[in-house]
Amino acid sequence: WTAPLKLADGTDYWGAPLYNLHRADLIHILASFLPEECIHLNAKVQSVRDDGTGVVARTIDGKEYRADGLVAADGIHSVVRAQLWGETEPRFAGMLMWRSLLTAEEVKDLWLPERGNYWTGPGRTMVTYWLRPQKLYSILATVPSDEVTRESWDMSGDVKDLRESFKNAEPRAAALIERMEKSFITGMFFRDPIEKWTKGRITLIGDAAHPMTPYYAQGATQSLEDVWVLAEMVERHGATDLNAAFERYEEFRKPRAARLQSGSRRMVKITHESEPHKIRARNGLWKGQRRIDPHLESDFKFVWGYNIVESLELGEQYVRGLAGTYQGLKKKRPESQRALELWLSVASPENVARGYEGLRDGYEEMLLKNFPADARLETRDERMYEVPVIRMSWPQSEYKANDTVVLHFHGGGYMIGSARGSVEYASRVLKAVQGKECVTVDYRLGPEDPYPAALDDAVLAYRQLLAQGVDAGNVILSGESSGAGLALAVALVARMAGDPMPKGVICVAPFADLTVSGETVAKFDGYDAAANPDTLRMMAEGYFQGHEPKDPLVSPAFADLARMPP
Ligand SMILES: Cc1cc2nc3c(=O)[nH]c(=O)nc-3n(C[C@H](O)[C@H](O)[C@H](O)COP(=O)(O)OP(=O)(O)OC[C@H]3O[C@@H](n4cnc5c(N)ncnc54)[C@H](O)[C@@H]3O)c2cc1C
Repeated sequence: WTAPLKLADGTDYWGAPLYNLHRADLIHILASFLPEECIHLNAKVQSVRDDGTGVVARTIDGKEYRADGLVAADGIHSVVRAQLWGETEPRFAGMLMWRSLLTAEEVKDLWLPERGNYWTGPGRTMVTYWLRPQKLYSILATVPSDEVTRESWDMSGDVKDLRESFKNAEPRAAALIERMEKSFITGMFFRDPIEKWTKGRITLIGDAAHPMTPYYAQGATQSLEDVWVLAEMVERHGATDLNAAFERYEEFRKPRAARLQSGSRRMVKITHESEPHKIRARNGLWKGQRRIDPHLESDFKFVWGYNIVESLELGEQYVRGLAGTYQGLKKKRPESQRALELWLSVASPENVARGYEGLRDGYEEMLLKNFPADARLETRDERMYEVPVIRMSWPQSEYKANDTVVLHFHGGGYMIGSARGSVEYASRVLKAVQGKECVTVDYRLGPEDPYPAALDDAVLAYRQLLAQGVDAGNVILSGESSGAGLALAVALVARMAGDPMPKGVICVAPFADLTVSGETVAKFDGYDAAANPDTLRMMAEGYFQGHEPKDPLVSPAFADLARMPP
C-alpha cells in the first residue's frame, strides 16, 4: 500500500509515492512470478563450487544443484560470501533493536496517522508505521546497550526492559511500548563494504553483497535495484559470458550500495545522539534543514531521487559514489585531478558513516598529510581574547617583508577545517603579499557552535589585532570557502560598527550564499567532490540553524558591498 509522505507534495516532488510492504507480502509477490519447479524449500546451501563450465551448490543434506551461474541472495550471514571472501567481522553498534507488530484493535484509541512516526530521544528511537493499513501496526524501537547481543531475526526479548527504557517517552510512544506483549530483539551491527562481489560465475546480491542498517529503510529496496541491473547486464552480455555480466553488474551497483551502507550508519548516528551538546547540535542542524531544504534533499536526494532505469541508460560512469561525484569523473588538468582524488580520500566509508565528525577528521588528516607547513616557517599558538589562533612569519632570509599582516580564516563550510590545517595555505598567501605576519584563526564550528559564534571569534581576532597596535590599513583579511565568507562578514561588521576598515579582502571560492541556491550548485552536481550540494547544504544548515540564511552576515552574497575595501 502507499503511505503518505509527511510533506503534502512529497509524492509529486519525488515522482513516486512511498510504498509500505510487509516482508511476507513482498516475498509472496516475488515468488508468484517464479515457475514452481524453480523453488526448493528447506534447501540450505553449505558450499558452492565453480568448475569452469558451471556452478554446483551443495546443500547440508548432500544434494547438489547445478547451473550456469550462481547469484547468492543468502542474506546478512551469507555462506557464499564467507566461502568466496572469508568471514567479515561485524562491529556491534552498541544498540539493541526491538521489533513488534500490534493489531489495529490494539492501537485504535491512539488515533495513529496514516503516515509513519519517528520518535527520537537520547540514544534511542522509535519508528512506527502501518504495515498493512488499518490491520497491522509495526514498531521498531532501539535502545543503547553495553552488552554485545547476538544478531538474530527470531530471538525474543523481555519487553519489561524495553518498557523501562521508554517509560518517560512521549505518551503515545510509551503507550505503544506498553501494549507490546512480545518482541523480537537483535543487536545492531555495522559491516564495512566488501572489496568484491563477483568471482567467476558466482556473484552476491542483496544483504549478502551490501548489508546495511535499516535507518534509510533501503536494504530490500537496494536488493530490488540490484535485480534490475543484474537482469539488464545478463541480457546485454548474454548468458554465455556470465562473468562479464556479473562484473558489470558489480561495477554498476557497488558505489551506490557503499554510499547507502555508510549513509545508513550515518543516519543511525544522527538519530541516536545521546550527549546533550550533540543532541543540541543535531537538532540545530534539523532546524537549518527546515529553512532551505524542506524536502530533506541533503539526506534523501541520493536515496529517493535516483532513477535506476535512467541510470542504466546513462551508464556506470554516471553512478555516484561516496563523495556524491560520478564514478567516471576525470579532470582535464592534473592539479584538478589531484584535488579530486584528495577529496575522494576524505569521503572514505568510515568517515562518511561518522557524519560531520568523520569528515572533520578526514579533512584534517588529508590537509596535514598532503600540505605540510614549510619547516622554515616560524609558528606559535596563541589566544586573542580567548580565540585560539596560530601566528606565523617567514624568516627574514626568505624575502624583505612589508608591513602587511594577513588575518586568515580557513575553509570547511563552517563545519570542518582548522587553523592548523590551514597553515601551509596561509603561509603561501603571506609570501604572495610579502607580508610580515599571518594570523590564522581557529574559529568555532557548527553544528556545535552555530552562527554567530564563528563571526564573533573572527571579529574579536580582528579587533585584537588592532588593539595590539596593527594599523587596519595594513591588514588583509583572507579566507577560502567559508573562511572567505567570514572574511567578508568581518569587513561588513567593521563597516557597520564604524571600526577602521582593513586594507583589502582576499576571497578564494567564497561560500557566500548559504541558501545553496546558486545555479552553479546544480550545474556542478556530480562533478565537484568539494562542493557537492548535499554536503554544502548540511554545512550551511549546521551554521545558520534557526537564523535567517539570507542575513548578509551569514551570506555576504546578499550584502550591499558599497564602501567595502578591495
Ligand atoms: C528491523 C529491520 C527493518 C528493515 N526495514 C526495511 C525497510 O523499511 N525497507 C527496506 O528496503 N529494507 C528494510 N530492511 C532490510 C531488509 O529486510 C533486508 O535488506 C532484505 O531482507 C534483504 O533481502 P535479501 O534477500 O538479500 O536477504 P534476506 O531477506 O535475509 O533473505 C535471505 C534468504 O536466504 C536464506 N538463506 C540464508 N542462508 C541460506 C543458505 N545457506 N542456503 C539457502 N538459503 C539461505 C534465508 O533463509 C532467507 O530466506 C529492514 C531490516 C531490518 C532488520
